[in-house]
Amino acid sequence: KTKERNVLPLLKERLPKHHFELLTMAGELGNKLNVAVYVVGGFVRDLLLGRKNLDLDLVVEGDGIAFAKKLAHRLGGRVRQHTKFKTAIIIYTNAAGEEERLDVATARLEYYEQPASLPTVELSSIKMDLYRRDFTINALAIQLSHDKFGKLIDFFGAQKDIRDKLIRVLHSLSFVEDPTRILRAIRFETRFEFTIGPQTTKLIKNALQLKLVTKLSGSRVLHELQAIFNEVSPYQSLARMQEFGALEAIHPALTLSPTKSKILKEVEKVVEWYRMLYTQPSPEPWVIYLLGLTSASKAEEVEEVLERLHFTPKQYNDFMSLRETVKTVANTLGKVRPDAYSHLYNLLVSIPLEGVLYMMARTKSETIKKNISHFLAYLRTTTLDITGADLQLLGFAPGPIFGEVLRKTLWAKLDEKVKTRQEQLDFAYRMLKARQ
Ligand code: ATP
Repeated sequence: KTKERNVLPLLKERLPKHHFELLTMAGELGNKLNVAVYVVGGFVRDLLLGRKNLDLDLVVEGDGIAFAKKLAHRLGGRVRQHTKFKTAIIIYTNAAGEEERLDVATARLEYYEQPASLPTVELSSIKMDLYRRDFTINALAIQLSHDKFGKLIDFFGAQKDIRDKLIRVLHSLSFVEDPTRILRAIRFETRFEFTIGPQTTKLIKNALQLKLVTKLSGSRVLHELQAIFNEVSPYQSLARMQEFGALEAIHPALTLSPTKSKILKEVEKVVEWYRMLYTQPSPEPWVIYLLGLTSASKAEEVEEVLERLHFTPKQYNDFMSLRETVKTVANTLGKVRPDAYSHLYNLLVSIPLEGVLYMMARTKSETIKKNISHFLAYLRTTTLDITGADLQLLGFAPGPIFGEVLRKTLWAKLDEKVKTRQEQLDFAYRMLKARQ
């Protein structure tokens, strides 16, 4: 048995004052209502790992919704409740004026049928709640109530696993219960640079052999894939999935080849490059990775993959047409004259950002890379300094011609044929005059 550990000093040291006070307040409310309150899951894991995470998940041994309502009242916030699951989200505005969310769950109740005609006994327990979680490192809690503020609750050896850098499930039926945990295990392994433990590795292989992934709904698989692609190093997770045969289990067309691996590594570089330079707009990385993963497949195969992932008709159409667009435009991009920025602009402006970034990852030509980079840095945000109102002031009657003239003036600006507002006005004037 490990000795009791209190993480109060850690909480004090690592948390912003506001979050510390919030936890204190939750504990005090628990005492007042006589229910035990814990902060659980990713927050506790990241506290021990020294990683920033301010997503607080509370678990209450008792009526979680009633607790949430009272806590929301104290915070001046509101509650969104899910009666069926006995969970609630508190939404409130913090001292800095930002909206914050706080999840509150009820430690799931266990009912024990008593022999004879005694009433059913209700046992609520944090231990049962934690036992239902995916991995030991996610099954930690910190007690907030009952004079034990800061007591670390570690029933399953999570502290040791953190020291040993291991991802381990809590019991041997874990992947049978929920095969998405296979993808979660890989994602956490990559994120924390941990290793999936030997027994857990066997259980994953076993689950894949039993084809348990086939039983998963498309939307759950897609959701887990999206989570992987939102991480910093998706390629490493993909390589790991390949090793386990997990990509193949989702759909054989997703299997990696050396060429595909090269493309996906390049996609990772481009996404990282883009994130370093631009915060807005942000692409959906999963679209770019999925373009890469299906790059060697025929259209019919891709359709199967999208069906497996339960794409909506709109997602389906968007993806298939993006795939085609990217192919056609990639061919034309090589033929853009060096000074014809308006041509480049017209080729790229209507393509979703994901497609543009994918083309950047796919091309071997440095010129095309430079062109796309120039489009992202300058062309896409270039706007005119004149509007239709200015053309009207010049004495022209508004009509569809305005749109065309303004568009051509923008192209002239992109090609650096006109610069100042006056030059743009003169340019538009000449064009309108010629049309009269
Ligand atoms: P992060 O948000 O940093 O990716 P997290 O651990 O907070 O990590 P979430 O997906 O938000 O991850 O899940 C919150 C908690 O719920 C986890 O810590 C885990 O204990 C539990 N959990 C989530 N998904 C599952 C699952 N499929 N099976 C069991 N427990 C899960």
